[in-house]
Formats: sequence, structure tokens, C-alpha cells
Amino acid sequence: MQVVLVIIDGLGDEYIPELGGTPLEFASRNFAALNKLASEGMCGIMYPVAPGIPPSSDIGHLAIFGYDIKTEYPGRGYFEALGAGIKLRKGEVAFRVNLATVKKEGNHLIVIDRRAGRISGEEAEELYKVLDEKLKEEGLPARVLHTLEHRGVLIIKGENLLGAVTDTDPHEINAPVLMVVPWKELDEKLKPYAQKTADILNKITIISHEILKNHEINIKREKSRKPPANIILARGGGIAKTITPFKEKWGFNAAFIAAGALYKGIARALGMKEIPVKGATGTPATNLAGKVEGCMKALESGYDFVYLHIKGTDNLSHDRKPREKAEFLLKIDHVLKPLTELDDVVIIVTGDHSTSSIRGRHIGLPVPIIFWSKSIRRDPVKVFNENSCASGALGTLFGRDIMKIILDLTDRTMEIGTRPEGPALVL
Ligand code: ZN
Ligand code: ZN
Repeated sequence: MQVVLVIIDGLGDEYIPELGGTPLEFASRNFAALNKLASEGMCGIMYPVAPGIPPSSDIGHLAIFGYDIKTEYPGRGYFEALGAGIKLRKGEVAFRVNLATVKKEGNHLIVIDRRAGRISGEEAEELYKVLDEKLKEEGLPARVLHTLEHRGVLIIKGENLLGAVTDTDPHEINAPVLMVVPWKELDEKLKPYAQKTADILNKITIISHEILKNHEINIKREKSRKPPANIILARGGGIAKTITPFKEKWGFNAAFIAAGALYKGIARALGMKEIPVKGATGTPATNLAGKVEGCMKALESGYDFVYLHIKGTDNLSHDRKPREKAEFLLKIDHVLKPLTELDDVVIIVTGDHSTSSIRGRHIGLPVPIIFWSKSIRRDPVKVFNENSCASGALGTLFGRDIMKIILDLTDRTMEIGTRPEGPALVL
């Protein structure tokens, strides 16, 4: 039996008065495919990590894929680099960076827009290139690369570096860009290595502002009232780490369809095979139908686990656009129809965390989840949203439960207490 896991990024949300519910509750009134799956499946709600803990996307994903985030998490930068096509070498530290907008106030830089108006395309590409060249010119052991929209990866090379440092990104607006320091809980013996990394990152941050603030692209952007992309903000230091492949952990030969560097990086790190889709952008303008076609192709090619990631919902929540999020959810529902016509497949639809369209950030509330197959026990839930799934038969689940339920539904589990593990008896 094959498995399709659809992760709609930042799926859950909060109550939006103008919609009379969450964006998902609002959209679900007109769902066809998702409500069919909910009606014919078993539903519940899921905390990717734990109640009240807002996960980052990588941690939400790893938890759902059944990995222990305490022992198996290399740091976000590792996945971002891998997603950009770079495998970190020993001694290298990678960070996720954003092009952002700041203004100078006294001796501080105040963040106005953490994504510089979601700058993208040639402008973003060029600014990352200019900064990369400047780092080289300054003799800094670092390089920076553009991935999607405002996003990029910063890689610091050298010996005795450590990713256990704090972020320059304050994660909110009207707050100052932060100085990087070693994690306070870090072993004292390791602090000098983290401090070395922090010093380089602080220097790069200041250089990025100096070189980008006067660039012609930004002068033009300011003239047309767009926020200038005049700094890079860094977070999530990561190092090379061996992670148990998905196949070894769960026995599935997996493929993935995702556009964002982080998601590609996670899937690549776990050894999943990429199914490329033209026009997949990781934004609400993505080629949704193409992604579902890619999923069907992966199933036809014999992969027994397909991970399909859809990012636009999270972008719209961060941008505080609940109505647009609801509209995008309807588009997702529309393209999922072919999946509901499959036979020998288990389908799971959920999110990697909730993102509030009011607060513009990830929150610790659970996400709804559907498990569907032709023979699964059906519960009374008819509609796919946060509230109706909360009364589903699966109740409250955690990210770490999901793969185990999938193994059970695909007949890959063994009764607890039985041990048919030895070699064949020899006569
Ligand atoms: Zn996410
Ligand atoms: Zn997000």
C-alpha cells in the first residue's frame, strides 16, 4: 500500500472576525475533495511537538517524519544549504538568511520588514550576488546564496566553528537587529568556538547593511515606495550531521514534491527522491495542479511514500492575509480531486504547525489531520477544519505518532510482544 502525505504549511490559524472562523473553517464550507477525505476517513488534531510550542517548519516536519528533534536535529541552516544544493563539509556552519529592511536609529538598526516586501526574482538574486562578492573581497571565509524570494543561505567556512549561536533576526518588527552570542546553555568549553562563529556573523551582518543600503536596486525600490532590502538577517545555525535515512527508519522508498529550499533540504537529508515540477514556486502563485500531477507520477513510478508540500498558506499567514489564505486553501482543495479517486493508497492531510494570520507568526495550537484509505474506519467528521477534526475519532495526536499510525494502516506493524526476528531454522 502506498502513502501520500500532504503537508499544507501553516495550515491551522486563529479566529478571524471578518471570516466568522479560521481561514480553513471559512474555506471548508466549500471544500469538495478535502471534505470527501474527511467524511470517508478518520480525523483528529495534532500537536507537531507539544501544546503551546510553536514549531519552526523544519522542526514540525522532522517531528511528523518521526525524528527526535533533541538528538537528530542538525540546525535549520543545514537543511537550507542542502536545499540550495550544498552539502556542508565538516567545520562549516550554515544559516538561513532573509533580505530585510532596517532603518538606523542611533547606534542600532531597527527592523521594519523582515522580508523586504518579499523581494524576489532578479533583484534578490543580484543583491545576494553583490554581497557574496563583497564577502570574498573582504577576505571573509563565507559565502551567501539566493534561494527563493527574500530567502538565502549563508555558509561560514573554517575550523572550530559552531552553529550554537543566537539569531540576528529579532523575529518581530520595530525591534533592533540583534548581536549574535553563543547559546547561554552551551557547555563552557564549547563557548569559544561559538564565539568565533558569532564574531564572523556579526561582522557579516554589518557589512551586508553597508554594501546593500546604497545599492542602486534599493535606491530604485525606495523611489517606487518599496521597502529596500538593506540587510541580511540570520537564524538557525546548522552543521553537517548524519541523519538516519527515512528508508532505514521506516522502510519506505520515498519521493517528495516541494519548492522551498528548506523542504527540499529536509527531504534530501532523509534520502527522499525529488520529483521536479515546473512552475512550483513555494508561493501562492505555485503550480498546484502540477504538484499533484507530480505526486501521481511518483505513485505510478512505484514510490511507496510521497511527501507533497504546499507552502503558500504559511506565506499568506505571515503576511496577515487570512482571506487570501482561505482562497488559496480552496485552490488546494480543487486540485486534490485526483487523489481522492485512488484505490490502494493511504492519504494523510495535515500541516506542520499553525500560523496566525492575526499575529503573522507560528503559534502553538494544533493542526487538523485526516487519515484516509478505502478501508479505514470512518468517524462522524464530515468537514476538514480545526474544529470539526477536533471531534474526530483519533482525538489529539502528536507529530511523533504519525509515522506509527501510517505503518499500522499500511500493514507494516507487528503485534507488540511478538518477535519473529531470527534467521530461518536450519535442519
Ligand atoms: Zn511551516
Ligand atoms: Zn512560517
